[in-house]
Amino acid sequence: KNTGEAQPWDAYLQIENLWKAFGDFIALRDISLSISEGEFVCFLGPSGCGKTTLLRAIAGLDIQTRGAIEQAGKDISNLPPAERDFGIVFQSYALFPNLTIERNISFGLENAGLSKAAISARVKELLELVGLPDQGKKYPAQLSGGQQQRIALARAIAMSPGLLLLDEPLSALDAKVRVHLRHEVKDLQRKLGVTTIMVTHDQEEALSMADRIVVMNHGVIEQIGTPTDIYREPETLFVADFIGEMNKLSATVSGPGRVKIGSKEFVASGNGFSEGEDVIAAIRPEDIIPHGDTTTEHMAEPENAITCRITEMEFLGSFWRCRLESETLGSTELIADYSINAVRRLELAANKDLVIEIPSNRLKVFPR
Ligand code: ATP
Repeated sequence: KNTGEAQPWDAYLQIENLWKAFGDFIALRDISLSISEGEFVCFLGPSGCGKTTLLRAIAGLDIQTRGAIEQAGKDISNLPPAERDFGIVFQSYALFPNLTIERNISFGLENAGLSKAAISARVKELLELVGLPDQGKKYPAQLSGGQQQRIALARAIAMSPGLLLLDEPLSALDAKVRVHLRHEVKDLQRKLGVTTIMVTHDQEEALSMADRIVVMNHGVIEQIGTPTDIYREPETLFVADFIGEMNKLSATVSGPGRVKIGSKEFVASGNGFSEGEDVIAAIRPEDIIPHGDTTTEHMAEPENAITCRITEMEFLGSFWRCRLESETLGSTELIADYSINAVRRLELAANKDLVIEIPSNRLKVFPR
């Protein structure tokens, strides 16, 4: 439980130089990570990046090839799952089909040797906690997928574990239920204050739920940060590209903080590049500032402005996605996202010209 009191350990969960090999294949490569008590952390990455393997190592379901895991100041590296302190929810609800919902939840409590009355009270409390107070006598098959997953969650927290592990718990559910359950899971986690790790390949899920996101790729950690850090300040091109939309422009470094894209030099952000180096300059679609026709008034950085032609406008409900072409940029197409208000105010339409400004602090340079 998160009591807010100072604890004798620095981090609730400490992973140190963890490696995992399956035969010749290295699934985890020198992973180090600290998670604070009460934190909600998401492991995010494409299929096969190692996020499930890392979660399973924390649970003791797979034992690491090298490295150490500490939980609450105790080395758990070589403990079997039953001796570790966690509850887990899998993508497939994994409820016992022949047991009632009550029995599914009380299973672990019965093994812990609690009294009948204590078990019954705890089951009632848990069913209320997950919003299904009247479903205890039913069987799993009589519940919807979303309800079954709430029961799986109730079962996982029944013993008040110090750590809650969620392995793609929402990905088998349909879109509406999934979005709804995001809030419920997050609320529950906050209420309980339980340190939680969720594996997901859904960036929106990670951005909306996590206190911190661990972005993984090919068995390594690409970046650890808050959702806004990961989205706004990606440290690698992989992170920039994996999360959200990103314009990636071939560029050449032309001086300190300057890149040439097509035939024009832009001021950009990024250090440690040498002149003449081939790089990628990246900018999010919503960061490209529209300035209407051809005026250069009100521009913070006129040197980063170019005239484009709008080739296509796509209505995406809450905003417009514009495709832009410019002789200055050569064959590269830009995507820019504009609010409905901006489109109306600037009278943007296909085949019209548009002056855009690319803010230098949003134009990020990455190694090619
Ligand atoms: P997904 O979202 O597809 O589950 P993931 O990021 O969770 O992907 P892992 O399941 O951790 O990926 O797998 C990482 C890599 O390790 C994959 O290439 C996978 O094929 C491999 N792998 C996982 N388990 C084993 C195993 N038991 N034996 C051999 N290779 C394995």
